[in-house]
Amino acid sequence: MPREEILNRIQKYVHPFRITKGKGFRLKDFDPDDTRGLKLDKREATELLQRGTDWLAEEQDILYAQDRWSLLLVFQAMDAAGKDGTIKHVMSGVNPQGCQVFSFKQPSAEELAHDFMWRYSKCFPERGRIGIFNRSYYEEVLVVRVHDEILRRQKLPKPLVSKRIWDERLDDIAQFEDYLTRQGVTILKFFLNVSREEQEKRFMERLDKPEKHWKFSASDIHERRFWGDYMHAFEEAIRATATKHAPWYVVPADNKWFTRLVVAAAIVEAVEELDLTYPKINAEKKKELAAARAELTGKT
Ligand code: ATP
Ligand code: MG
Repeated sequence: MPREEILNRIQKYVHPFRITKGKGFRLKDFDPDDTRGLKLDKREATELLQRGTDWLAEEQDILYAQDRWSLLLVFQAMDAAGKDGTIKHVMSGVNPQGCQVFSFKQPSAEELAHDFMWRYSKCFPERGRIGIFNRSYYEEVLVVRVHDEILRRQKLPKPLVSKRIWDERLDDIAQFEDYLTRQGVTILKFFLNVSREEQEKRFMERLDKPEKHWKFSASDIHERRFWGDYMHAFEEAIRATATKHAPWYVVPADNKWFTRLVVAAAIVEAVEELDLTYPKINAEKKKELAAARAELTGKT
């Protein structure tokens, strides 16, 4: 199938979930169980995903060779929404050398002694690379917004902590993303939208299966109580920071196979838009290559 045709097909699974304008965005318009009527068995889904990851691997090779653009993929979600699995599957074909994955947990004392962007800004991808943030600076307007005591630990000067702090932070994030975009960083943000019911099912599975016990954490169960607060925080974040150059994808996450497909397709589409080509070589380089060939074949 020609690339053009594949692109046309995958758009159907990307565009409905892509938010490029925050105004009027409502989370409740997005169904976590949506699969756009697509019904695939496991084999078919795996095959389709494989195509996407192969494609991504080819594009990454050019991205790296060009050494100009970079890609920042941000993953945010409630626990058990499938961040880890999605990252693992979608990036499975790409060359690890061109890829950098960072997982952000609770900040250290050193990190708390700096402005909130400090620890993230050290991890932005180099040119030619794909950077993956498993959690990100969005935690600063999600978990920190939901739990007051975390904000207090950030040691901000008192006059700077007002009712407007979340709007101000969102503003700062949006501006930071503008800046990165102008530096050649293409930003895609994924919210894996899992339902509260599906999360419960996945937690139960972790309890039932010994090989999944390590994944279980009592604090995850505790966070479920704040579900509504988190959804509100996500909605506000998406409203304030969804733009054409740094879109959010509200990816249905109740069916893992579909989540992975949408994420892979969104990345392929975005990279395709960069219209990447291998760097062209100049006359001098051509001469160098010809001389190398001559030397290797002993014709000098
Ligand atoms: P997994 O559970 O799949 O291993 P995870 O991303 O949930 O991955 P955990 O160690 O379970 O990793 O959780 C990390 C915790 O750190 C999350 O609860 C998250 O909200 C929290 N966290 C991340 N960034 C911040 C931050 N800036 N301030 C406070 N807490 C944060
Ligand atoms: Mg966790």
